[in-house]
Amino acid sequence: MDIRRRKVIKTSVRSSIDRLLIQARRAYDEKKPDRSIRYVGMVKDLIKKNKVRLPKEVRNSFCRKCGRVWIPGKTLTVHYDRKNDCLRVKCVCGYSKRL
Ligand SMILES: [Zn+2]
Repeated sequence: MDIRRRKVIKTSVRSSIDRLLIQARRAYDEKKPDRSIRYVGMVKDLIKKNKVRLPKEVRNSFCRKCGRVWIPGKTLTVHYDRKNDCLRVKCVCGYSKRL
């Protein structure tokens, strides 16, 4: 497969990831967490299958472990980690990660 074709595929994969994340957030707002988690699962499959690198804000918008969309104050808490001198986010499932 030539580079140009691969680029087209990656661009379209990225835009469908964006769309899926928007839908995942909307599903969460509509109190359908199961559906929201399913959307994020599709996002994770797309990332794995196409090996796309995503911008930070996309990578930090859902939980890698449980697949919940991260909505500050709802599924996510942010606190300052004094030991490592950084900000740390924590998902409701217990997964935490440095920012
Ligand atoms: Zn989680």
